[in-house]
Amino acid sequence: ADLVDGPLAEIVVDLAAIRNNVRVLRGLVGVPLIAVVKADGYGHGMVEAAHAAREGGAEWIAVATVDEALRLRAAGYGGPLLCWLMLPGTNLERPVAEGIDVTAYTGAELDAIAAAAEAAGRRARVQLKVDTGLNRGGAPRATWADLFARAREGERDGSWKVTGLWSHFACSDEPAHPANDRQEQAFRAAVALAEDGGLRPELLHLANSAGAVLRPSSRFDAVRCGISIYGLDPAPGSTPDLGLVPAMTVRTRLGLVKDLVPGDGVSYGHRWVADRPTTVGLVPLGYGDGVPRHAFRPGGPGNPDNTAEVAVGGKRRPIRGSVCMDQFMVDLGGDPAAAGDEVVLFGAGPDVPTAQDWAEACGTISYEIVTRIGGRMTRTYV
Ligand code: PLP
Repeated sequence: ADLVDGPLAEIVVDLAAIRNNVRVLRGLVGVPLIAVVKADGYGHGMVEAAHAAREGGAEWIAVATVDEALRLRAAGYGGPLLCWLMLPGTNLERPVAEGIDVTAYTGAELDAIAAAAEAAGRRARVQLKVDTGLNRGGAPRATWADLFARAREGERDGSWKVTGLWSHFACSDEPAHPANDRQEQAFRAAVALAEDGGLRPELLHLANSAGAVLRPSSRFDAVRCGISIYGLDPAPGSTPDLGLVPAMTVRTRLGLVKDLVPGDGVSYGHRWVADRPTTVGLVPLGYGDGVPRHAFRPGGPGNPDNTAEVAVGGKRRPIRGSVCMDQFMVDLGGDPAAAGDEVVLFGAGPDVPTAQDWAEACGTISYEIVTRIGGRMTRTYV
């Protein structure tokens, strides 16, 4: 897009990068790969990301909500599909009718799935999720035996097939964290208990990206990879170089370049004040587009400012002053630059900050950076 008539910035999504990343990961893990495309494909576009992941060799697609899963079906995706987040009363008849694997944590959810299967006139596909220590979703350990007994009953009466048993890590991005061993042991105990009760789920899965890459023992029958398929580092500081390529680049143009003299304060609150002559450029994006306001935080005495950087003319330039709703300023240091010059916030390539760089500058994780960016930007696929 030329960014002149329409939105002022674009998110360029490199689908070849997603295909490459899935191929690399699938080759590394040696078991089926469940590509996670929830939250609009971590900001990359749910349908496009799912398609690219399948082309790269992912056997399964997963999303969080039933609604996301139904939208993938409506977009034409007919393959294996898992979702895991619902509320009491969520309509389960449609996902059951459309052959979507729904996840149950409780007997009450299984009862609702039985009713949905009856209404849909079709055997449901159910995966059971056990809580092995994340203490978020999933059946608490004290309820496993009852859940498995109820699941076995429903299999016998034809309400569903238990297609999977799974859990989720809390600390897999810290490979030495003792919770990882504990969770894997608890998961093995859940599998043994299910088998003792006569359940034989086809697909046992525990690992997200970091587990998949760093903990071979956690790969079981499949791995659920999200962040890594988008080319972002699942465990910063611990991940070996796998050749993952960031799939998202955010680009725009400078709207204006102006001179500053020492003492000039920039943006709301004058939280940055020039201490030397310089030039600053206007970037027409702000928190209304998902650029975190935390991307500039002033330091204190003896502490440097905390700032994310953008690339202008192949050089990294720090943000100066508060990020506003629609715009922020960057320091061009007096180097030649003009309104209209390309600005890359983050993306792939040697001279360009990554979403991980932005996450570190903003005190968050790359997931939040790519998932929240958007607002008024267009998305372009290459
Ligand atoms: N599995 C579940 C249940 C998740 O919620 C997520 C995402 O947070 C993933 C897998 C993918 O995790 P990651 O993006 O770290 O690979």
